[in-house]
Amino acid sequence: MRIAVLALQGAFIEHEQMLRRLGTEPFEVRQLNDWQQSKDGLILPGGESTVQMRLLSQLGLLEPVRQAIQEGLPVFGTCAGMILLSESHLATMAIRVRRNAYGRQLGSFHTCGTVSGVGTEVPMTFIRAPYIEEVLSPCCEWLAEVDGHIVAARQHRQLATAFHPELDDDPRLHRYFLSMISGKT
Ligand code: GLN
Repeated sequence: MRIAVLALQGAFIEHEQMLRRLGTEPFEVRQLNDWQQSKDGLILPGGESTVQMRLLSQLGLLEPVRQAIQEGLPVFGTCAGMILLSESHLATMAIRVRRNAYGRQLGSFHTCGTVSGVGTEVPMTFIRAPYIEEVLSPCCEWLAEVDGHIVAARQHRQLATAFHPELDDDPRLHRYFLSMISGKT
């Protein structure tokens, strides 16, 4: 299985390490040439969504990425990656997100919670994180909630978390994503 990891900015290396640990081969997407390789899935990492959007656009990657996701390429967006998937950005997922939702003081924290289909006591690291204010379509199901806010969702082959599973030593969310790709979940 070959997984494209958007490597323009942010926490992409940690995703690559997690994918290797699970026996898959990641490759970095830094320009259009990289994108044209065959792939089974895509990871949109955390970082800064405004910067990532600008670079995607400047590099001519925005439309090819959007189109591939719309045509069914499995994608996993974490934090800024989740913002990219939301209705105000690539708009492939029917979610409305609030950026920097936890405010400056509480911007970073760690907790554990249940993620539907993934398990209990899943570690969740939030860094200047967004949350999902609203799920806009019945096609999209929320998977986890923290303090009354939705922090993970799935819409067909798209998975999004407001937190950073790649920064914790628990591969269950990445394993879940790989099983989405192979059609097992
Ligand atoms: N605050 C960032 C944004 O709005 C997201 C932070 C992150 O990815 N850790 O894009």
